[in-house]
Amino acid sequence: MSGEARTGVLRTRSGKVRTPFFMPVATFASGRSIGSEEYHADGVQAVISNAFLLSLRPGVEIIEELGGVGKFMGFDRAVFSDSGGFQASRKSLFSGTSRRGVHFRSPFDGKRVVMTPRRVVEVQERLGSDVAMVIDDMAPADAPREQFMKSLHNTHRWAKECKDAHTDSKQLLFAIVQGGYDAKLRRESAEYLTSLGFDGYGVGGCAIGEPKVDMYRAVKNSTPFLPQEKVRYLMGVGSPPDIVHAVSLGVDCFDSIFPTRNARHNMIFTFQGSYQLEKSRYAKDRGPLEEECDCLTCQHHSRAYVRHLSLVNEVAGERLRQVHNVRFMTRLMERIRSSITEGSFKKFRQEFLHDWFQGKIPKLYK
Ligand SMILES: [Zn+2]
Repeated sequence: MSGEARTGVLRTRSGKVRTPFFMPVATFASGRSIGSEEYHADGVQAVISNAFLLSLRPGVEIIEELGGVGKFMGFDRAVFSDSGGFQASRKSLFSGTSRRGVHFRSPFDGKRVVMTPRRVVEVQERLGSDVAMVIDDMAPADAPREQFMKSLHNTHRWAKECKDAHTDSKQLLFAIVQGGYDAKLRRESAEYLTSLGFDGYGVGGCAIGEPKVDMYRAVKNSTPFLPQEKVRYLMGVGSPPDIVHAVSLGVDCFDSIFPTRNARHNMIFTFQGSYQLEKSRYAKDRGPLEEECDCLTCQHHSRAYVRHLSLVNEVAGERLRQVHNVRFMTRLMERIRSSITEGSFKKFRQEFLHDWFQGKIPKLYK
C-alpha cells in the first residue's frame, strides 16, 4: 500500500493478472489494426471484448463451438467481456432502456435487440470470457437527478438478476456502480452492490463527456465503499495522467481506446509527454519513437520511417504506432506496480505528472 494505491493479483481461469493493469480494447475480438500477437508482445495481461457485438457477429454459437473468445482470438491471457451497457453512450447503437433491459439497434441490419440481464449473462457464459460484466443502466452525463435515480434502480435490479442467473463458477462476475456525480447515490450504489457480493466492481458512468472534476467526484465517492480485497475497475478511462491519478484513489483496472485512437492520429506517448509525429522536425530523425522503449516498433524502426508511413497513410504505420502506444501503457503499469511495491508511488506519481505536463500539472491532479 502507498496511500490509497494498491497492488495485488486478480486470479482468472486464464491465469493471474497483476494489478493495477490497463486493458486495450478488442471489441470484435481484436484491436483495429493490432491483434493478439502484438498484445502478447506488448506485455498486455488482459483485453476487453464486447459481448453484445460478438453476439451479433460471428454469434455466440460459433465462438462457443471454437472454444471460447480467448481461443477464438488466439489470446491466451485474460479476456473481459463488456455487457454492452457502455454502448449506451453510442447513439448509433443505443435505442433506450426499459425495465427489462437495454434496447439496441444492430449495426449490421438495423434489427432491434433487447439485452436483458439473463441474456447478458447467458451470452458471456457462452463466450467463455474470464470476467463478465453485469448490464447496467447508464444515464447521460448531463441527465437530471431523477434520471440518475431511475437508472440506479434499474442498475441494481439488473445486477441482482445477473448474479442470480450466473452459473459458471470459473467465470468472474463484476458489478457496475452508477449514481452519476452525486456523492449520496454513488455511496448507495457501492454499498448495495457490495452487499450482493461480486468478484469485482466497475465504476461506470465515467469518461462519457463529463468534466473531469465530476469523474473524480464519482470515483472518490465509490471506491471507499467497495470491499478492499476486490478489484475496482474504472471503465472507459485510459489517459496516462488519469490512470496515475485514479490509482492514487484506489483504482486497480482500466480500459480505453485512448492509446490506440491517439496512435491513429499520430500522437505518440512517452514518459516525457506525448508528441505529434507528423511534425517536420522528425523527418530525418534516426531515433526510435521513444528512447529506452523495448517495443517491436522502437527496436526496429526510426521516427523518420514511422513518420513517413503516417504521411502516406499506410496501415502498417498505424500498426507500428499502436504497438508503441500500447507498450507504453504496459510499461506505465509496470512502473506503477513496482513503485507501489517499493513504497515510492507518491514520488513516481509526482515525477510522472511533472514530466507528462512539462512542469505544468493541472490543478485537478494536485
Ligand atoms: Zn516503442
